Amino acid sequence: MIVVKVGGSAGIDYDAVCVDLAGRWRAGERLILVHGGSGETNRVAEALGHPPRFVTSPSGYTSRFTDRQTLEIFEMVYCGKMNKGIVERLQRLGVNAVGLSGLDGRIFEGRHKDSVRAVENGKVKVLRGDHTGTVERVNTGLLDLLLGAGYLPVLTPPASSYDGVAINVDGDRAAAALAVALKADALLLLSNVPGLLRAYPDESSLIRQIPANDVEQYLDFAQDRMKKKVLGAAEAVQGGVRRVIFGDARAGQPITAALNGAGTVVS
Ligand code: ADP
Repeated sequence: MIVVKVGGSAGIDYDAVCVDLAGRWRAGERLILVHGGSGETNRVAEALGHPPRFVTSPSGYTSRFTDRQTLEIFEMVYCGKMNKGIVERLQRLGVNAVGLSGLDGRIFEGRHKDSVRAVENGKVKVLRGDHTGTVERVNTGLLDLLLGAGYLPVLTPPASSYDGVAINVDGDRAAAALAVALKADALLLLSNVPGLLRAYPDESSLIRQIPANDVEQYLDFAQDRMKKKVLGAAEAVQGGVRRVIFGDARAGQPITAALNGAGTVVS
């Protein structure tokens, strides 16, 4: 089993990802796709007059502050436009894909975090009314049902809280939890960069290999949202996934290239 997470940043070629995925699926490989949608969510939120608000925690992690209205816009884009766009591409390529959010059948479950500590103007503030959380449980039963019946699951945040409330969760870490739960052979985290860069944005500074035991030491190279990918990779390898690869989804055959060792390989 291979878990592929494709991000939501500008420049990602979803056609290339889907063509590669469909070819491998038709050849008999079992895969699950998890996707993001942050770039499009930002555009739609601006257009709807409710622009995104990003907050940085005291430990330096950036996340989207998700009030109820933001959550609804987030769902429109992730579960609607992005998810159905990918499912449609796969259907046209002859793959019977099923698009679900983590809320559906509680595929992704976690604790609802209602408040977030954020650094603003040099001060730490507590912001309430946040609909976020972290995936702690994965309902593999539903996924096994789908895979057993020949469907390719296409998954997206939000997740469900234990009380059944929709929560915004990080897609990379959700994909990591999924890869651990399914005992996947590999987790691919595909984005709009060649991999983890030692001197971002210099693409020639690509880090090719990270020993599984040292992943957290590489957190220092990652800025803002890339930190979550490194954290997800650490969680996946600690949970028994043998290989995590940060790969490039801008062109070519993103999945095949990553599995052949392009990008940053954590193992
Ligand atoms: P996605 O939505 O595609 O999953 P994110 O926007 O969450 O991607 O994270 C990828 C982004 O992280 C890159 O587009 C890049 O701007 C940023 N980044 C920060 N530090 C690094 C780094 N050291 N190497 C590569 N990318 C980095």
